This record gives sequence, structure tokens and C-alpha cells, in this order.
Amino acid sequence: MVVSLHSHSGQYCKHAKGNLEDVVKRAIEKGFEIYGLSEHMPRYRDCDLYPEEVFSFSFLFFSFLFFSFLLFSISMIKNENVIILF
Ligand SMILES: [Zn+2]
Repeated sequence: MVVSLHSHSGQYCKHAKGNLEDVVKRAIEKGFEIYGLSEHMPRYRDCDLYPEEVFSFSFLFFSFLFFSFLLFSISMIKNENVIILF
């Protein structure tokens, strides 16, 4: 069984590429039977930020981004191969 429980998309963090739907479609094409969606939780401490995030830091921004990810992920649950990790 091909499984991944870690994924990112450029849609929700700056150190990944592609939008989440394309990432999921590609994972399915590659034969993943279980594919976890695991974008970053909103972070509020400077020490938890990635270097590319330091200058755009805003807890409100990260919260909005994560909420957007949750809404999109819920729409992807229709695919039985997709699970969401928090
Ligand atoms: Zn990451």
C-alpha cells in the first residue's frame, strides 16, 4: 500500500509548489492509496516561522490561510483516498 501522511501545496505555504487540488490529483495518479493533507497550523511565535515567512508574519493571516485550507480539504473528502491531519 502506498501511503503519505505529509503533504504541502504552494497554495498554503511558501516552501511548496502547486495548488492543493493538483497535488492531490497527482498523488492519486501516482498510485497513493492513502494521502494525508497536512498544511501548517497557524503559528504565533516568531521562532516557529520559516525564513520565507518572517516578513509576511501575521497570526491573522496564517489563521485565515489555515481556515481556507480546512474548507478546501473538507471539499476533497469526497475522494475516499484523502484524509486530513491536524
Ligand atoms: Zn512545511
